[in-house]
Amino acid sequence: MPDIVIVGGGIVGLCTAYYLAANPAALPSNTHVTLLENVSVACGASSRAAGFIGGGPAWHKEANQDLARLSWECFEQLARQLDGPNTYGYRHCSVTGLRVGAGQDAMSSYRQLPTGTLPLAQKGEARQPWYRGDHVNLDTSGLAAQLDPAQFCSTLHAEVTRLGVRTIIAQPLRRRGKVIETTEGDVAYDKLLIAAGPWSADLCTLLNIPRVPVGSLPGHHIVLKPGTLPAGYDSVPAEAVMAGVGGSGSSDDLAATVTAGGQSNDLSAAERQQGWTQTIEFFPRPDGTVYAAGENNVPNLIGDATIDGRENRLPLTGRYVHRLVDQDLVQRMLRSSAAVSPALDVNNGAELVKADLCYRPVTADTMPLIGEWQRDVFVCAGHGPWGITLAPGSGVVMAELIATDLTRDDVKLSADISGLSPHRFRAAKL
Ligand SMILES: Cc1cc2nc3c(=O)[nH]c(=O)nc-3n(C[C@H](O)[C@H](O)[C@H](O)COP(=O)(O)OP(=O)(O)OC[C@H]3O[C@@H](n4cnc5c(N)ncnc54)[C@H](O)[C@@H]3O)c2cc1C
Repeated sequence: MPDIVIVGGGIVGLCTAYYLAANPAALPSNTHVTLLENVSVACGASSRAAGFIGGGPAWHKEANQDLARLSWECFEQLARQLDGPNTYGYRHCSVTGLRVGAGQDAMSSYRQLPTGTLPLAQKGEARQPWYRGDHVNLDTSGLAAQLDPAQFCSTLHAEVTRLGVRTIIAQPLRRRGKVIETTEGDVAYDKLLIAAGPWSADLCTLLNIPRVPVGSLPGHHIVLKPGTLPAGYDSVPAEAVMAGVGGSGSSDDLAATVTAGGQSNDLSAAERQQGWTQTIEFFPRPDGTVYAAGENNVPNLIGDATIDGRENRLPLTGRYVHRLVDQDLVQRMLRSSAAVSPALDVNNGAELVKADLCYRPVTADTMPLIGEWQRDVFVCAGHGPWGITLAPGSGVVMAELIATDLTRDDVKLSADISGLSPHRFRAAKL
């Protein structure tokens, strides 16, 4: 009986498993779908991401836009089917671009942002914004939403399990023909999907498959419980805020900004020296907390320098990533949060609930690899800052590709992924 094995239990692997299992009619009878994960389901960025969904075309390069359209449709349908608002905090949101301090043009250093559509510092709003600075509406498409990615992944995992997908938690060791030897025994496949996020290239090496061109980009995040909110607010609203903080990079700018906003956060000389996070994104969540992401640096190592024997690089597995959190970078993010809103100032009643780190899977052109890599081996990885947004659409087309006889000329997919071939970098030396 045909076996489909998906290696990697992040959001991309889960969504592919879901769309395979939810459409059994598209598969030969008695097809088995197995999810092979080496740590725990969604232990990487898929459970630690902000959970922002940018469904409108303006957020994406052209080759990603149809996938974003399909993903948005899937999210809306899944929310109805799986009670998204209650099970994983799915809700539509507005998106604001914010500039705190002078001269910072870019509001995001790693994400394409739509051009703002309303004048900065609008007049006539019903209540004062919960942040300081000049702001602009970044999304008029109405196709922006957010969810709790950890809850989404656990909901989807429960659903795929109910639909008959088998999950194996084991470390793959090597490949023998169409059998993967793992620490828990052999796993045979007819079709194999590489969906191991930033670990996808290493997984290929392990399985003696040509490495897929996927790298990794770390990103820190913090979760804050706000202190006192401005008048008129019971909680921080469903408004994602992409902020550029400060100006020339001189630490005096931040102090000037904060003071100009009517409040000083009393930075010490040492703190001024350390600076702050210049581009930072805020995502208020339905539970009242605010998730902030920024600092996409390779972190300093703690302790005596190596994790899993590697220096300053992606750890061998997702198990130890949290040990790499760089407290200096966390302090920088806290300082920027305070500059953006007094309600997010830990010296003014806000509480730091969590500080964490995870790795994005990235490619040289910032778009994912989706397709057949070699005969019966597929890849779906490299979604960069858009892995949550694009996962359901990727799962749909991946399931279609796996279920289809690709030697036929009339292969029809639900989204145009012609610009996302995993072979597009072959000519270029990476
Ligand atoms: C701070 C931050 C915030 C983000 N916010 C957003 C956001 O708001 N919206 C958005 O769209 N995107 C966001 N992203 C990006 C998004 O999180 C990622 O693109 C996405 O989670 C990638 O999913 P994945 O399934 O490809 O990889 P991962 O989540 O990394 O999953 C890969 C899985 O494979 C497993 N694995 C690895 N090696 C092996 C092996 N050898 N054998 C078996 N299993 C293996 C891992 O343990 C892991 O569970 C954010 C990223 C970061 C870093």
